[in-house]
Amino acid sequence: MSQNRPTIIAGNWKMYKTMEEAQQFFSELLNLVSGSEHQIRLAVPFTMIHTLAEKAKGTLILIGAQNMSDASEGAFTGEIAGRMLREVGAQFVLLGHSERRHIFGETNAFIQKKVVRALEDGIQPLLCFGETLDQREQNQMEDVLKAQILEGLEGVSGDQLKSMVLAYEPVWAIGTGRTASPEQAQEAHHFCREVIRSQWGDDVADTVPILYGGSVKPENSKALMDQPDLDGVLVGGASLSPETFAKIVNFNHLVKT
Ligand code: PEP
Repeated sequence: MSQNRPTIIAGNWKMYKTMEEAQQFFSELLNLVSGSEHQIRLAVPFTMIHTLAEKAKGTLILIGAQNMSDASEGAFTGEIAGRMLREVGAQFVLLGHSERRHIFGETNAFIQKKVVRALEDGIQPLLCFGETLDQREQNQMEDVLKAQILEGLEGVSGDQLKSMVLAYEPVWAIGTGRTASPEQAQEAHHFCREVIRSQWGDDVADTVPILYGGSVKPENSKALMDQPDLDGVLVGGASLSPETFAKIVNFNHLVKT
């Protein structure tokens, strides 16, 4: 955690929860995190954005989407445009999540188009990237991260990047129960920040928050958050229960055992 950057705790609900469950979760979470000094975010299914964004008004919670189209409008059956998301209250959008990359075949070039479109549409991109286990074992981690960052952010200005959030999510840690150690996470975050520094300069590198994602739980959140280049967490499975997610939000109030 750094004094200069906000601490962000974000949940990614993926394709879980009905509207009724979502509203119940939201009321319970609000009670459990009142007084938190961190920024809390929930990336929710499209159908819940409007209702939850209305409920979130005046609270410390931001509601966002999990994906969007690279086009502003057109004959793209089944797609959703960034300006449609903004209109219903989404304040950010996850882009480049590993499930989009690996299940739906999204490439760095395609993700870059979405990043640029989101910035044009006035919705904050939260760009995710991370290496697979195979890539890590073949010592390709740095090349992969560098390509994901530089290609995914091509054409993005320093000021635009300062308005964004990034998330390092090693694929081998997502949904597997296998978390990167705090040292592994710090090493990768530091590398990513240096890639940004070399391309966009000190001010941008020292301003943009980089979250860690991959099997974050209440038990490991404090040790991860203590790392200097880690500015928050992106939480999948553990964000589905209000009690568990609130424990992660309140990580700095947990007593170490
Ligand atoms: C994610 O979906 O971004 C994620 C990190 O999932 P999990 O916390 O379940 O590993």
